[in-house]
Amino acid sequence: MILTITKYGQAVLRQKSQPVTEVTDEIRTLVSNMLETMYAAKGVGLAAEQVGRTERICVIDIPKDAEKAPYRETNAGVKMPMVLINPEIIAKEGRQRNEEGCLSFPDIGVPITRANQVTVRYQDLDGNERTDTVYGLLARAVQHETDHLDGVLLVDRMSSLQKMSIAGQLRRLQQAFGA
Ligand SMILES: [Zn+2]
Repeated sequence: MILTITKYGQAVLRQKSQPVTEVTDEIRTLVSNMLETMYAAKGVGLAAEQVGRTERICVIDIPKDAEKAPYRETNAGVKMPMVLINPEIIAKEGRQRNEEGCLSFPDIGVPITRANQVTVRYQDLDGNERTDTVYGLLARAVQHETDHLDGVLLVDRMSSLQKMSIAGQLRRLQQAFGA
């Protein structure tokens, strides 16, 4: 089932997620709906808050050809789609600066500096504990989605100048979706 994606201005996007204690059928249904919603919106990542929920869950699927050449190989051991339950970033290294967008900020894309490599600890849908080190665009997606789960948004990662340059778009979103 395709769910409605929450937009900047909606309060749930500022909520901190709650750890998932057990992977129930309800959680499996939520994950399946999140994946369907992400694919329908042509996104590469989606966090629970973006479908109005607060479970600590995000999904990511980076198409192989979207990843830059060296990282296609280094990320090859990670199967897509990635379902991250209770993810925590435990190490970051290096820097990358690339254009970043968000399904909750339609039509907005700005260059954002992120770590180039992150190690993330999480549980998969079968409840297995996993630790993966990922690079490039996938590392960016993991940072973006775990930010969501902490109530941190793309706008918080922008410089004052970047925020000023899209102030009109941000205001329109807040007027349309804010309480
Ligand atoms: Zn986002």
